[in-house]
Amino acid sequence: MTSKEYDVIVVGAGPAGCSAAYFCAKYGLHVLLVDKAAFPRDKVCGDSISPRSLKVLERMGLLVRIEEGHFYRIRGIIMSSPNLNMMKGETPKVEGKFDYGYVIPRKTFDSMLLSHVKKKKVEVIEGLEITGLMYEGNKVAGVKSSDGLEAKCQIVVGADGVYSKVAKNAGIYPTDPNHEAIVARAYFNGVEGLEHYIEIHADSKILPGYGWVFPVNDTFANVGVGCIKTYLSQKEENLKKVFEYFVAENPFVKKKLAHARMVTPLRAWPERFGSMSKNCTSNGVILVGDAASFVDPGSGEGIYQALRSGELAAEVIHNAFSKGDFSAKTLKEYERKWKEDFSPDFKYGKKSANISATKPFLLNAQIKKAARNDAVAAAITGTICGIYSKKKLFTPRCVMRFFFS
Ligand SMILES: Cc1cc2nc3c(=O)[nH]c(=O)nc-3n(C[C@H](O)[C@H](O)[C@H](O)COP(=O)(O)OP(=O)(O)OC[C@H]3O[C@@H](n4cnc5c(N)ncnc54)[C@H](O)[C@@H]3O)c2cc1C
Repeated sequence: MTSKEYDVIVVGAGPAGCSAAYFCAKYGLHVLLVDKAAFPRDKVCGDSISPRSLKVLERMGLLVRIEEGHFYRIRGIIMSSPNLNMMKGETPKVEGKFDYGYVIPRKTFDSMLLSHVKKKKVEVIEGLEITGLMYEGNKVAGVKSSDGLEAKCQIVVGADGVYSKVAKNAGIYPTDPNHEAIVARAYFNGVEGLEHYIEIHADSKILPGYGWVFPVNDTFANVGVGCIKTYLSQKEENLKKVFEYFVAENPFVKKKLAHARMVTPLRAWPERFGSMSKNCTSNGVILVGDAASFVDPGSGEGIYQALRSGELAAEVIHNAFSKGDFSAKTLKEYERKWKEDFSPDFKYGKKSANISATKPFLLNAQIKKAARNDAVAAAITGTICGIYSKKKLFTPRCVMRFFFS
């Protein structure tokens, strides 16, 4: 690493880091973006890019490239219930919002993001691991790398994912197995019956969690399962067995995979949910994306939160530079911003995940109703993919409509 000084050093070049670096550079800040991997690199993910993520990508100026890329457009969600009812919901059209998403393998998507950011006068170093933080008094003032070099800055953005060294070193890395999941996926070729819909299967053997089939094209899919950590340890379950059950025995999935071949090994990775209580700032440090545990506990979505938190962090960093104050007090503004945007989904996402696990009959009734009523199916689809806030599901009006429509 160079011994230069920067305004901002962003650690991690996934969606959160690329977004933070892009928007900081847009504000005219001198930014260094570092990642321990050399791109293109794989990232264990379901690869589903939600409609609301497209809004941030549009503001980043990257949407045009995605639209031109012939990636698989997703028009809605197919969802099955524990008692094997199935609904098919179209993503609702809501003014100012996209009514489609994409499934793009992260190896491709993250490389596109990084090459876009490189065009924005961001200095990028790949293949360099950040191992520690430098302090001036009680304020973080730079980073240290694996090869012993150091770089100084006013603000470090921790965008280094679930195992964030920045968060751990800054003392803002809470853990709570009730708000954490283990999730695994593999790619399958030769899949039959895929449509332009992502599939979510709330299989009774996987609750509290779900299995998915996300189509990358007409015959190739990302297939995976995810479960809450505490459930797996209580039941002495093992995620590999859950996955093997899902692909071989779930009645919807086994049909689709009957002649398919698993073409990559099964890879697992943790998710830390946004419902965990936490602080995402400290003197000279802001956490974004998975480093801040921003995954939605209801859907498992994290790419939107990663992109959006990078954007929000850049707004707050810009203000901090205007004031010349990088203290935790000034950066607290970020806590208010992310809570305003994400907290309702985190709270009600966790609530709906708990209800599905403890009262599966409610999920059965909901999917049964949605199977017969397109408006209900569209409302569920819109809620899962973030067009509507998950809070909406719990309003008296919505509950009444569900029982009496
Ligand atoms: C199996 C699975 C399926 C999922 N499916 C979906 C989905 O379909 N849709 C969705 O929206 N979300 C999904 N998620 C969540 C999503 O993958 C994450 O929320 C998202 O990747 C977060 O982006 P990020 O930039 O914060 O972190 P990451 O994408 O993890 O990027 C972190 C980067 O930091 C780098 N890094 C780490 N440590 C260091 C270090 N010390 N020094 C330098 N660099 C470092 C890494 O190399 C990496 O490039 C899924 C997650 C899992 C595990």
